[in-house]
Amino acid sequence: MADLPKGQSIEEKQYLVRFKADTQSHLHVLDADICATRCPDKLCTIFCPAEVYKWEEVRMHVGYEGCHECGSCRIGCPYENIKWEYPKGGHGIIFRLA
Ligand code: SF4
Ligand code: SF4
Repeated sequence: MADLPKGQSIEEKQYLVRFKADTQSHLHVLDADICATRCPDKLCTIFCPAEVYKWEEVRMHVGYEGCHECGSCRIGCPYENIKWEYPKGGHGIIFRLA
């Protein structure tokens, strides 16, 4: 197996992944009011490496199709307001290491 070239940016490395998206999201924001009223920094829009979460004025858009399945949003949301599961078998991210 070949090593990844050194010095690649995260964006360049992201070109090495592919996705087989399910039709149903495996990520759910449980209470949109908490996002709107208690989380001014919208932390998930910062810590998610795949930029899955985007705040759209009054609601959180969840672009689950691009999730890297790192699990950060399980522990990163200060209000435990994200229900996180793995995508159904056969769906989700496909890593290519060479
Ligand atoms: S970190 Fe949690 S509470 Fe904050 S905006 Fe994201 S989902 Fe909502
Ligand atoms: S599991 Fe990782 S990549 Fe997927 S939505 Fe959560 S933080 Fe983003």
